[in-house]
Amino acid sequence: MMGRQEQPQNNLFHYGVNLDQRIRSNHPLRKVNELIDFDFAYTEVQSCYGNNGNESVPPPVILKLMLLLVFYNVRSERDLMDTVPERMDWLWFLGYDLDTTIPNHSVLSKARKKWGVAVFQSFFERIILQCVQAGLVDGSKVFVDSSLVDANASNNSVIDTKSLKGQLHKNYKKLEARLTEQPEPPANYENKNNRYVSSTDPDATTVNRGKPKLSYQVHRAVDGKNEIITASAATTGTVNEAHVMLPLLEQHEVATGLKVETVVADSKYGTIDNYLACHTLGINAHMPGMGKANSKRIAKLNIFQDDQFVYDQHSDTFRCPAGQTLKRKSLHLHRESSDYAAPKKVCAVCELREQCTRNKAGRTVKRHLRQDELNAMRQKSQSVEAKQDIKTRHT
Ligand code: SF4
Repeated sequence: MMGRQEQPQNNLFHYGVNLDQRIRSNHPLRKVNELIDFDFAYTEVQSCYGNNGNESVPPPVILKLMLLLVFYNVRSERDLMDTVPERMDWLWFLGYDLDTTIPNHSVLSKARKKWGVAVFQSFFERIILQCVQAGLVDGSKVFVDSSLVDANASNNSVIDTKSLKGQLHKNYKKLEARLTEQPEPPANYENKNNRYVSSTDPDATTVNRGKPKLSYQVHRAVDGKNEIITASAATTGTVNEAHVMLPLLEQHEVATGLKVETVVADSKYGTIDNYLACHTLGINAHMPGMGKANSKRIAKLNIFQDDQFVYDQHSDTFRCPAGQTLKRKSLHLHRESSDYAAPKKVCAVCELREQCTRNKAGRTVKRHLRQDELNAMRQKSQSVEAKQDIKTRHT
């Protein structure tokens, strides 16, 4: 006989519900609860609370709520709090009962503000240290990367600060006031796109990778052994990720207490500054170079590549494919390089001129002041091991 479900009747009271028995033994939150004693938060944030006034939501519960937000990729804190009473596993994890009053969603943003960045940094470092102690982190090989995160702001809020129409926008005055309140970003994290600003979230920036979008950027260093994130930074969307690589490596070394021997990254990080900084620090830079842009420009012009000019250390000159000598003609301290050229009249009558330059003044070849070190780093970045690491990074 086919069974039929009775019309559901909502019971006002439930007796004998034991959440601990309801949660399956292999539930991931059980594992988290077994391994982490969240009570450490009491001592970490003790100084952020006074002795009188309203009692706060216990810090371990706040921390667990933040973990649920990230672990289950919940869209917003409001959504999280709406969902908590519907999820028995979450209630159990939080140490709540079916009847416990759920805190207001604002407790998370208030806690973030009250605790400050240093406390979260300390939580993060504590976790990494535990990973190091458990032998999960090797520390010597680090993969660096970044990804864009959509800002929680409408693209319609973007104002062109250079246009009159933008300045007449009703939100512009408010925006201007907020912008003057903003702390100066670190020099390394210079915003490349400060013309278009969101009136509702001035920290977010319009990024033009495909469709323009208001974004933030998350940068991370990942240890090669077990893919554990050991350093992280959040910036506006248009920050040049190459500038964030060294601070990430430094953060990794402080958090793990281990020395980086090799950094693996894509070509966006392969700048001259990064190669030379790695050389100074004794770090192998397994990343394709950005110098290819110049090679591509030369290839497009269909003229001799720079490496067809042979440098002579002794005389500090280049020999060109026509056998002529290119002497140093200028030094550019700001870009730490020198320009070398043959006399203009020599290039003017050269038979290979068509294959060499489109410039009426003749061909110029640049050489960095630390070119030998740069060449050594670039050569290592082409090694079999480097190529294997770059391939691993893509998988
Ligand atoms: S154009 Fe000038 S630099 Fe180029 S091959 Fe001729 S002499 Fe040498």
